[in-house]
Amino acid sequence: MGAAVVNVRELSAAYGPVRALSGVSLEVPEGAVTTVLGGNGAGKSTLLRAISGTLPFHGGAVRGGEIRLGEEVLTGRRADRVVAAGVVQVPEGRQVFSRMSVADNLRAGALGERGRRAGRQAGREVLERIFELFPVLKERAGQRAGLLSGGEQQMLAMGRALMARPRLLLLDEPSLGLSPLMTARIAETIREINADGTAVLLVEQNAALALRLASTACVLENGQVVLAGDAAELAASDEVRRRYLGIA
Ligand code: ATP
Repeated sequence: MGAAVVNVRELSAAYGPVRALSGVSLEVPEGAVTTVLGGNGAGKSTLLRAISGTLPFHGGAVRGGEIRLGEEVLTGRRADRVVAAGVVQVPEGRQVFSRMSVADNLRAGALGERGRRAGRQAGREVLERIFELFPVLKERAGQRAGLLSGGEQQMLAMGRALMARPRLLLLDEPSLGLSPLMTARIAETIREINADGTAVLLVEQNAALALRLASTACVLENGQVVLAGDAAELAASDEVRRRYLGIA
């Protein structure tokens, strides 16, 4: 296993009086896919938002612990500074700019400091790669994003995030509401993005799929890590099979 790209240590977070995470520790290895499993309200989205610095936008706050990217401390950083450091979240529900064109949505992803620092040539190369990963975005570049199907909007949200050239991509329920065919295409793209060298932290209701994509996994319950380890080993554990894979 390679070095950790992101290290979460004893993280606690809350929405006002509602405690959502309690002492969560997690290592996200460089260049791998890691998945976070857990039932409704377990704290999965809160964990991603805490890492991406977007928790305050949802009325939440980190109450303790630390999040590091290598030696850099991310805890308490503004979301745009976290993106600049190389950690980019694709939010649950995509949130594309529906009245803007597909191309302008993608450009919006490159506007940050990281995009500027990389320069125009690098920006063009990233865009070419995104069009290879998602040909439909090239075909429909001039159309309003709101006219895309749900799966295509998920692709656009992922493409927009990739424009910032992340070291770690945070994906919150990418298959939500998608057909099995579209889910399979998104899964294949997650593999390709990871093969390009980008680490992925995946929250996914489809636990079977998530465990196939991931090399490491952890299970959250009531805001705490109750299981963690190798994804294949977790997929074989009776508790995970019973509770998350629906196999008795
Ligand atoms: P789901 O799969 O249902 O999205 P989750 O595992 O992602 O669940 P979170 O959304 O992180 O869980 O929620 C963790 C806890 O925090 C839950 O008890 C939830 O009710 C609470 N919570 C989440 N968002 C808010 C919010 N904006 N305000 C208040 N409480 C919240």
